[in-house]
Amino acid sequence: MTAPNNSSYQSKSSPINADLIPEFVFTVIKKLQQYDFQAFVVGGCIRDILLNRIPKDFDVATDAHPEQITAIFKNSRIIGRRFKIVHVRQQRELIEVSTFRKKPDEVSKLRNGVIQDNAFGTIEEDAERRDFTMNAIFYDPIHENFFDPFNGKKDIENSQINFIGKKDQRLHEDPIRLLRAIRFHAKLDFNLCLTKKEIQAYIQLLEDIPYSRIFDEMMKFFLTGHAERSIKVLKQYELLDIFFPHLAQHSLEKKSLLMLGMKNTDNRVKENKTVNPGFLMAVVLWDAFKTDKSFNDEALSLDAKIKNFFNQSAPNIFIHKRFIKYISDIWRLQPRFMKIRLKAVYRLSNHPRFRAAYDFLLLRSESDEEEKKYADWWTRWQSANESTRKQLLDQKDE
Ligand code: ATP
Ligand code: MG
Repeated sequence: MTAPNNSSYQSKSSPINADLIPEFVFTVIKKLQQYDFQAFVVGGCIRDILLNRIPKDFDVATDAHPEQITAIFKNSRIIGRRFKIVHVRQQRELIEVSTFRKKPDEVSKLRNGVIQDNAFGTIEEDAERRDFTMNAIFYDPIHENFFDPFNGKKDIENSQINFIGKKDQRLHEDPIRLLRAIRFHAKLDFNLCLTKKEIQAYIQLLEDIPYSRIFDEMMKFFLTGHAERSIKVLKQYELLDIFFPHLAQHSLEKKSLLMLGMKNTDNRVKENKTVNPGFLMAVVLWDAFKTDKSFNDEALSLDAKIKNFFNQSAPNIFIHKRFIKYISDIWRLQPRFMKIRLKAVYRLSNHPRFRAAYDFLLLRSESDEEEKKYADWWTRWQSANESTRKQLLDQKDE
């Protein structure tokens, strides 16, 4: 079935650069349409393409139900408990296919603040439950049709973030949208439809939201290529004080470990390298750890200092245990880079966290001459052959 007859559908003269849509997306849409279902690319990927940016992932929305989708695509499976969506794969590519769903009523909010949204709906209803006008543009790449019921394209042209419906109601429904609005402001440099005063007032709504959702959203500020701008925006709206109080007084000076770390993360994303939330948090928390009273307690071992830090002065953001372990490993290994002795060097270089700890040392060395000496030594050591390694070790002993 092609796009139904609706005045909001616009066709042809597409401003979409089809080169930014992977072949696999066309295949999935075409196949669903062959089975007489509606199928569109929707959400952030269309917004990004209209801005001529490369989307980080592709979402497809359809009126096919999850079981109907998995019946069509061999390499697919249903995921999600709260709302079933389907992952369709082709080699390393993955597309999320979701059935149109309705906006939930206020009463179906679960106790932990998560909205229970498991009712299927029409394309119009699916558009209405989305957060911002720019995120509710549906595009059918086969027929080059748009369904843009809230004129998101115009808001994109005007660099404007606008809520669908009344912002007060939409923020109460799901306060995470506040963080999303600020994140898109940082990412796209679009005008925010909220004043600083409003942000300060609405931020309290996040108290009812599970830590894990806030952490995930917060990580998207930093791990999607705009960390440097994100941290400045968070400071501008006095949100660093709330999520990372130890950074409230930070000057965000270019040469600080924090800002070097942000820049480094953005570069890694641009180069398609992996970025680990644990590594990022190790950077964000390092200065706080160094000024913590445990850190300066001579009687404590480094291990004990780290444990105390996380037990007593943790930031106002919940960090999962597995990340605490990762951060601790990176920090614990730092003094070991200064022990240039045969056994110690080999032991350290075989440590499973060696690479991350070395990357952290490199960052530290950018603003510290003493660290730089060691960082350079380790850089040379890693690319050296056995005889050069021996020389490097001998030199160090002299
Ligand atoms: P990006 O992927 O660049 O972070 P995005 O807009 O694609 O941005 P996703 O989290 O991937 O963000 O969500 C995909 C789409 O789902 C959004 O474009 C939006 O339409 C909808 N959406 C996501 N989160 C919410 C929310 N909390 N409330 C309403 N709609 C949402
Ligand atoms: Mg997305």
